[in-house]
Amino acid sequence: MLVMKFGGSSLANAERIKNVAEIIKKNINRKPVIVVSAIGGVTDLLIELSKEAVIGTKQKALLNEIIYKHYEIITLLKLNKDIIDKEVKLLSDLTYGVSLLKEMNQGIADNFVSFGERFSARIVASYIKSLGIDSEAKDAFDIGIIINKESKFEVSKDKYPEIKERISNINSILVITGFIAKDTKGKITTLGRGGSDYTATIIGAAINAEEVQIWTDVDGIMTADPKLVKNPKKLDSVSFEEASEIASLGAKILHPKTIFPAIEKNIPVRILNTFNPQNLGTVVSNNIIKKSRISSITYKKNIKVINISTPRMLEAKGFLRRIFEIFDINNISVDMVSTSEINVSVTVDNLKNQRIDKAESDLKEIGKIDIKENRTIISVVGNDMIHVPNVMGIIFSALTDIDVEMISSSMSEINQSFVIKEEQLGEAVKKLHTAFFGV
Ligand code: ASP
Repeated sequence: MLVMKFGGSSLANAERIKNVAEIIKKNINRKPVIVVSAIGGVTDLLIELSKEAVIGTKQKALLNEIIYKHYEIITLLKLNKDIIDKEVKLLSDLTYGVSLLKEMNQGIADNFVSFGERFSARIVASYIKSLGIDSEAKDAFDIGIIINKESKFEVSKDKYPEIKERISNINSILVITGFIAKDTKGKITTLGRGGSDYTATIIGAAINAEEVQIWTDVDGIMTADPKLVKNPKKLDSVSFEEASEIASLGAKILHPKTIFPAIEKNIPVRILNTFNPQNLGTVVSNNIIKKSRISSITYKKNIKVINISTPRMLEAKGFLRRIFEIFDINNISVDMVSTSEINVSVTVDNLKNQRIDKAESDLKEIGKIDIKENRTIISVVGNDMIHVPNVMGIIFSALTDIDVEMISSSMSEINQSFVIKEEQLGEAVKKLHTAFFGV
């Protein structure tokens, strides 16, 4: 069996949905299970709708825009409008209810965004059916995608047998909503922005799929972001470790959690382009021969560097523990760390929230803090990098004109990361790319 996940841009209009259906048809002998994102742009509109419903100004217009967008596609695909009747009614009632009560919380907000995938799954399933292929839409929670909030929004392996059983009980081609789930109390929740990739690999692992295909709008994982480098190369294959680094370092191509279920079951994940389906894309798997190499230059923007310094750190015990406890209690994840005798620098995502303000004020109790904003972590990712000849020399010669403010302290085999000013990002990526890939 095969899992095929289609992202929002691949489903953005009727023509693109037809194209997706062609791709599914070509793979019909591989018994595909389909996972879909919301139609391109709809999740953002639903988030806006949830906010407007509370303020009470533009919600009617927005609701109509969302519904009309789906009806237009349904009409162009010559389908029956009633396929989304139930969801249209539920979303309208939710909007009306919230605009009366003016109450909003995470659960209500999740309920709003869940409609994107609930609409798209029904449209794609009906369209495939109209082509003569027996097909059925299912909400992810109805096939066992249930999360435990305590386990950081992950679907536990214990759920796999149930997911497998529910899927194998259905003979038609299943079109399952990505991104959405229910918690153990039965409330709708999500797997986080971009989470449909993760839905796809959970299903892939549960049914022991031969491959999970992530159909998107680029040819695969590139040696650098094409927005910053003119001619990056596509990588034909990468290891799970390389892909996790690239995904967690901010490349939008895969949701960071996507890889975990695939690693557990050693299921290849292939990234493919719906606009160029002949291209074989990038396969992420364990089966590649792991030779020493540099595979990609990647980056994560909007980083804050927090430097904590105190002479009391000299020869004192427990400073690092206290610092990390503060981040832990405030639920802030730290990316890079570097220490000297009297100071510790860490990088965190520059989130504007109370917890980061609280962490900063707690850190002031320990020492003097100095904050730098608008920074970027730039990373050179690869396999067995310590055996790439002169790798650090090449990196530092390429970055001669760049102010490198922090360096990852470990001699990692898989990545070397640096903090630079955001304004130097383009120049730094270009220089590193030329140094390692010649273009
Ligand atoms: N529709 C959701 C989003 O836009 C989830 C996804 O596309 O994976 O983030």
